[in-house]
Amino acid sequence: MSDAAARFLARYGETLSSWTDDTPPENDAPDIETSVETPPLPEQGTPERAWFDPEYATTLTGLVHAALMRPKQWSDPAAFPSRGCFCSTCRGQSWWSDGPNGWRCTGCLPPNSDPLRLIDTSN
Ligand SMILES: [Zn+2]
Repeated sequence: MSDAAARFLARYGETLSSWTDDTPPENDAPDIETSVETPPLPEQGTPERAWFDPEYATTLTGLVHAALMRPKQWSDPAAFPSRGCFCSTCRGQSWWSDGPNGWRCTGCLPPNSDPLRLIDTSN
């Protein structure tokens, strides 16, 4: 046996013999079902607790929905349609502008000619 092999066996021999042993190792690992603890909920009445209230989640979803809803036209050309916004009339997400007169929904108020700007807010 070479010196290298002897050093290897001296260092890892016990580990190797445990790998080749046919007897199954003792299962001293904790049971996953009992070792995972559910964190406690925040105190009742605190703002942190409100996040766990299903009614709060419904309200939040409604607020996001309302924030994304736009009228079928508006006059401020600088108020660009934002990503995800949709028309309150037809729920379309394509908007056009001729420049000075603001923005229009393509579905409700289609342009008569090629618009100066065309924005798709669906993505
Ligand atoms: Zn529309």
